[in-house]
Amino acid sequence: MRPGAPPAELTTILTKPKDVAESVMPPRRKTRQVTVGPVKIGGDAPVALQSMTSGYTYEVDKCLAEIHKLAQAGADFVRVAVPDKRDTEALKHIVPASPVPIVADVHFHFERALEAIAAGVHKIRLNPGNIRDRDKVRRVIAACKERGIPIRVGANEGGIVERKDKEQRAVEKAQLDEDYAAGLIRIMLEKLDEYLRIFEAEQFYDVVISAKSPDPRIVIDAYTAISQRYDYPLHLGVTHAGPPETGRIRSITALGTLLATGIGDTIRISYAADPVFEVEDGKELLCCLGLRGRTGPELIACPTCGRIEVDLFKLVADVRQRLAAEIKLPLKVAVMGCVVNGPGECEGADVAIFAGKGRGIIYVQGEQKQTVTEDRMLDALLDECRELAARVGRGEAKLIGAQVEVKSPKAQPSKGSAPLPVLR
Ligand code: SF4
Repeated sequence: MRPGAPPAELTTILTKPKDVAESVMPPRRKTRQVTVGPVKIGGDAPVALQSMTSGYTYEVDKCLAEIHKLAQAGADFVRVAVPDKRDTEALKHIVPASPVPIVADVHFHFERALEAIAAGVHKIRLNPGNIRDRDKVRRVIAACKERGIPIRVGANEGGIVERKDKEQRAVEKAQLDEDYAAGLIRIMLEKLDEYLRIFEAEQFYDVVISAKSPDPRIVIDAYTAISQRYDYPLHLGVTHAGPPETGRIRSITALGTLLATGIGDTIRISYAADPVFEVEDGKELLCCLGLRGRTGPELIACPTCGRIEVDLFKLVADVRQRLAAEIKLPLKVAVMGCVVNGPGECEGADVAIFAGKGRGIIYVQGEQKQTVTEDRMLDALLDECRELAARVGRGEAKLIGAQVEVKSPKAQPSKGSAPLPVLR
């Protein structure tokens, strides 16, 4: 079983990628395929999700705890930095104990790459721009070839512009000044041509390419150009995106646009924060684009408006937390502020609650189950979710969602209470 995949008994009840996404998105661009342990990147493999530990690799227990947390959140493999020999020493303990494949991130010191390969890592990330001695790069290629592991070759904005060689940097700056984005992408392509010639001369093709920038527009244009030029799988990312509050939009703009046009074989969203947020957001992005089936609940909620009569924001926050902790199936749950527009906005939910006038009406797959007071809404909704999940687990129900028929409130029987939505 692939790391991070759900247990076999759950695979039959996972939601499928959305038909609508399949119908509007172009097919994934075909690339060569490489393998990272049991995970495949490129070809017809699903888009792989990765992240990177934020602590010191040489602190073995802490590093492993972080890797386990990221794997639990849904990372298909995890990258660790190995700036020192003590980090590659630690890999001897980390790699065999990790639940997912490990990628060693190497900068400057080719010895770290050789040590990491010897320690059993499943992939190397290398920036040939940082290792000027081509013989050293060739030694790393030879070691990876012997072990059958791929190399990610980066031509990221920071790595190609901030060269130590001042003369070269001045030339590049002058070139960039013509038109920053176009000049930068041209240099990225030139660098990739130069780097790939080294790999291809050694008949090494297990390569993944990255060309990141902090600017989403450059990321989109660079990867689009690269996808037209090479058939290597692409690792998508936005560098130095900042904290989730600002980095989220930046990352999703770039990665979502590329993925929606069929470009990208593995992604990493990078934040200046706990990397678990990277995995959670990456997973949500892939699910939203229909590129990964959901394994956990999906919450939809109305934004509230002048019709609201309960504390919906708190209810939504509480429901989100309890669903994540208690429900391990892709139930679609809707929390709506009223029965007037709520039904139309929660179309397709498995379990829905419509709040109003201090009470909530709960529907399960089209059937009205109960009306509860505001203080009972959270517990009652979770009770219904657990019960439906149990029935699904026993094979007595399917997570098909409910179609909502919106009826005019005037057409509903009133009896002094708010009209009820009709779900079917
Ligand atoms: S569901 Fe009701 S309360 Fe929520 S935004 Fe729509 S109309 Fe407003």
